[in-house]
This record gives sequence, C-alpha cells and structure tokens, in this order.
Amino acid sequence: MKTHLWIANALILTQNAEREVLRGHIEISDDRIIAIHPAEVPVPQGVTTLDASGLVVMPGFIQPHIHLCQTLFRNLADDLELMDWLAERIWPLEAAHDPESLYLSAQLGIQELLASGTTCILDMATVHHTEAVLEAVRDSGIRANVGKCLMDHPETTPESLRQDSQVALDEAKALFEKWHGEANGRVQVSYAPRFVVACTEDLLLKVRDLAAEQGALIHTHSSENEKEVELVRNLVGQENAAYLHDIGMMSKRLVLAHCIWLNDEEINHLKETGTHVTHCPSSNLKLASGFAKVPEMLEMGINVALAADGAPCNNNLSALQEMRLAALMHKPGRGPRTLPASKVLDMATLHGAQAMGLADQIGSIEVGKKADIIALDLNQPANFLPYHKEDIPAYSQLASAIVYASQPAHVKWTLVDGEMVAIDGRALRIPSRDLEPLRVRDIQRKLIQRAGLTL
Ligand SMILES: [Zn+2]
Repeated sequence: MKTHLWIANALILTQNAEREVLRGHIEISDDRIIAIHPAEVPVPQGVTTLDASGLVVMPGFIQPHIHLCQTLFRNLADDLELMDWLAERIWPLEAAHDPESLYLSAQLGIQELLASGTTCILDMATVHHTEAVLEAVRDSGIRANVGKCLMDHPETTPESLRQDSQVALDEAKALFEKWHGEANGRVQVSYAPRFVVACTEDLLLKVRDLAAEQGALIHTHSSENEKEVELVRNLVGQENAAYLHDIGMMSKRLVLAHCIWLNDEEINHLKETGTHVTHCPSSNLKLASGFAKVPEMLEMGINVALAADGAPCNNNLSALQEMRLAALMHKPGRGPRTLPASKVLDMATLHGAQAMGLADQIGSIEVGKKADIIALDLNQPANFLPYHKEDIPAYSQLASAIVYASQPAHVKWTLVDGEMVAIDGRALRIPSRDLEPLRVRDIQRKLIQRAGLTL
C-alpha cells in the first residue's frame, strides 16, 4: 500500500545546496519526498500527519564506517593499542560469533544508531555468517551497505578468520548477488578487505576487478596506526595508501577509514582519484591512533565523512558524539575557526551520502530524495536553541545547537524510506524481548567462552 505522509509544522534544516532553513511541511509518498510546502499552506484533511511543531527536522546522519558485528564486544576491549586490540580481543571474539550472537550484535548496534538519528551506515561485517548482519539490517529498517570482511594473508591473520582468497571472494560475490538492492534498495552489499596487513595482493586485485565489474563499493581501513603502516612497509615495501594507489584500488568507489598516517603524496592520490575518507574521532583518540589531517583534506576538496567505527573502540555509536569530537579535536594548534559546526554537519550528512555513492538519494531534504529524516528537540535545557529575532534561526545557530550541544536523547524520531523506525529512543522493528539484558548477557557469556577469553 502506498503511504502518504505529511510532516507538518516543522523547522526544516534542508542541507540543500543553499543550506536553506525553512518553516513548513514535508510531503512524502512511499519512500520519497514529493514536496516541501511553506508553513502558510494548510495541511489537507484526511492525510496522515506527523506533527513536528517545536522540532527541528533534518536529514538522518550517515556513518560510512561501522562494525555491527562488534557491538556485543562493547566494554570488553578497552585501553589497548590497535594491533593488540585486534589480536587479543576483537579477532578471537569475531571468530567465535555464531549466527545468533551476530544477529543480536547487529540488533544492538542498529537500536543505538536509529535511536540517535543515524539512518544509513557502511558496515564491515566479520568473515563468517555475514547473512546474519544483512538479516538484522533488513528486519530493523536501517539503510545499510554491508560487506563481508575479507582476510587471507597466511602470515598475519589468525587461522579462525583466514580464508582462501577465491573462497572468500566467491562468498562475497554470492552475498552481492543475493542481497544487493534488497528491501527497496535499502540493503546494499560492498567488498570489505579488512586492511592491507590482512590481505594478499592476489585478493586485493581480485576485489578491485570484481567491484569494478559490479559497480560495487570497496570499504577498507587504511593508515590508522603507525605500527600498521610499518607492517605494510615490511610486507609490500611501500607506504600503505601509496600501495593501494599503485595497485589500482583507489577510485570514487573506495571508502578508506581513518587515513591518519599518510604523507603528502598519498593525500594527493586521494584527491586525484576521488577516494573517500571516513574520519572516526572517538576511535582515533581511544586507540591513541593519532590525528588525521581532516581540515587539510577537506580544504583540498577530498570528501571526508564521519563515523563511530565499532562499539569496542568508541564505546558509543552516536553520530552526535562524533560530530562534537570532530569539531573540537582539530582546533588546538589550528585555531577555533577550524572545522566549524556547519562543516561537521556536512560531513555527517552530505559527505556520508557521497561516500556511499548515494548523493542523489540521501543526505539532504529535497524533493525526489529518499525520506530518511530525523527530528530533534532543540528545546531541552541542555541544547536550547538561542533567541533569534526572525521566525527562522540562522543556519549557524542550528548547526551549533546540534553539533556542540545535542545528545542522543534529543532525537525525537527517525524515518527511513518514509517509515517510522524509531521513536523516543526505541527502534520500533526490533523486539524489546530480543534486547532484554539477561538474554544479551547470556549470549555474550557463551560467545566469550567460545572465544576462549578470560576477561
Ligand atoms: Zn573499523
């Protein structure tokens, strides 16, 4: 049945090319925005109406680097350096997942993401049971592009997560063929080699060719950590991103998470090839990875998006937290005008859409785009929108109230594809009995046992 919905009486932060802020109503038919009406237009009788009086309505946040498979490891892998964090905790836990624990891990992550206003993610799953993540995405209503994690290097990967390159590729290809475009295009599939350290050149080249053939995204980590870059140097005799460039991996369909330890030549390669970068502020600070040159990359015209990474290296998944941190952490040394709130808001919406190859579909509230829309309450004591003379506040005021002052609890509701998927902190399509704490801890306990960890 065709749904026809009016979001009425909203203050609309459009994120369109002019960054217009409007008062009015958004008309939605099925999954699309079909009109934006000024406030003077009366809402017709008999249509389904969502009253947004007093709320700020804006495009949902887009996070192109998440690991839903790791949400169940939250608070289990803290205060470690990247390679130890991976080898001692994350890889054993990922390898111990069964479909039940993986589905639950994805549900936990999606609950938090939808409730805090994220409508779309690029997810790196683990090596096995990726369908459990895709099923959780389909069932919960979030928009996601999911990639099975690819690891095949005989010297650097644990046996439990290592696959023959052709076996890994065949599995990933089968997932693409079965799931890409599912649920009205809301579910997509990408190729996700973990990082250069974990992959042979043979695998990377096959990924490059297959993704090009299918027009699929490639999603990987790059130059997150100094030791990682050193390992790559030892393995391939080159800098990490320079290597990715030289073997032809870089393109507009490549999303690189982190990009901290890059030299100027490598940054130029990103620019020349249109490769996207996802900045993960909390993760970079918590794992003491370093400071990416985000302001400089943005200045050069490189598309830098924003994401929370996985729950064990953050330990939250809220885009609001990442925006605040991104806006703060690059100012010392560069001055307070660096990365203003408005720019960070672009990173969390428009730049995310571009990284995911969905710039014509999501990232702003415009006629013809998908109705991936959230409402924020900026009337709370903690994030009160300041006095404004006109009926419509300045864009910069709204950006400040959202980026610097808003918290997940200020997200009132979340729509994806025109469907209400979260209200007041609860993802509506995820049964609350599934997330009951005793059940979660029981599944977690068994997972930790299977991983053979003593915590
Ligand atoms: Zn990551």
